[in-house]
Amino acid sequence: MNAPATNPEIVSAIPAGVYAETVTAVQHYTDRLFRFRMTRPQDFRFRSGEFAMIGLMVEGKPVYRAYSIASPAWDEELEFFSIKVPDGPLTQHLQNVQVGDTVLMRKKSTGTLVNDALLPGKRLYMFSTGTGIAPFASLIRDPETYEKFEEVILCHTTRDVAELKYGFDLIEEIKNHEFLSEVVGDKLKHYATVTREDYPFKGRITDNIRSGKMFTDLGVPPLDPAVDRGMICGSAAMLKETKQLLIDAGLNEGANNKPGEFVIERAFVD
Ligand SMILES: Cc1cc2nc3c(=O)[nH]c(=O)nc-3n(C[C@H](O)[C@H](O)[C@H](O)COP(=O)(O)OP(=O)(O)OC[C@H]3O[C@@H](n4cnc5c(N)ncnc54)[C@H](O)[C@@H]3O)c2cc1C
Repeated sequence: MNAPATNPEIVSAIPAGVYAETVTAVQHYTDRLFRFRMTRPQDFRFRSGEFAMIGLMVEGKPVYRAYSIASPAWDEELEFFSIKVPDGPLTQHLQNVQVGDTVLMRKKSTGTLVNDALLPGKRLYMFSTGTGIAPFASLIRDPETYEKFEEVILCHTTRDVAELKYGFDLIEEIKNHEFLSEVVGDKLKHYATVTREDYPFKGRITDNIRSGKMFTDLGVPPLDPAVDRGMICGSAAMLKETKQLLIDAGLNEGANNKPGEFVIERAFVD
């Protein structure tokens, strides 16, 4: 049951037409990153990979930001993977949420990082930096992704090794999940690289695509528009550069109303 139902003061403060959900779990990874889970409204439907507006009441006013839903469409709860911006209007407060607290969510979700926006293919690349892994956390846990693609490659680049941990936790969770482990089998590959620390796999994802290192490391052929599909989620600069590399390889950008060979979404607004 949601906390606001038992607290008339909070109930009266919550704006009409939004969901007020209860935090069920919080996990801090670094001083910049954390994930949390919350209850899912019974009538809330979304497609894996979409984002929603989530928020908190701050000094009597709601503050909302776009957040990729990191849990898959079948999950009974909703999961989010978040940055902590020290003076950020939302995340300076959101980083302090605890189990039992209330988080607001607008009722509509949307987004382009959905399976429907891609033409059929064989191999799906998910290119992400930082919290850009969030929509892919949803998609790699959705059986539909493995119905559409024979091979799914989750590429995640962060500054430090500690920032990769959420990605590794996701892979472990899939391996230990009774049903998902069977569906996913050996179809999912995880290519994790860091830019600022010593690590077996180093470098920006764009440099590793350009040099061919990524393909050598993964043991796969270079990008081929006939079989390869891509999804990109990162900063504006990362999107621009990765998008150009895919275009140079002959892939065309798609959208919900016109599926293509790759799709993009910003992980945040600069
Ligand atoms: C489509 C979409 C999906 C998003 N999904 C997520 C998500 O799943 N998880 C998440 O943490 N954020 C996500 N964001 C960013 C999110 O909307 C907020 O910007 C973020 O939560 C910070 O909010 P804030 O109010 O504290 O600071 P803001 O005023 O929103 O941001 C302050 C500054 O912090 C930096 N910043 C903001 N977000 C990030 C980030 N995620 N990584 C690195 N630097 C950042 C930017 O330079 C920004 O100008 C998404 C944004 C968009 C547009």
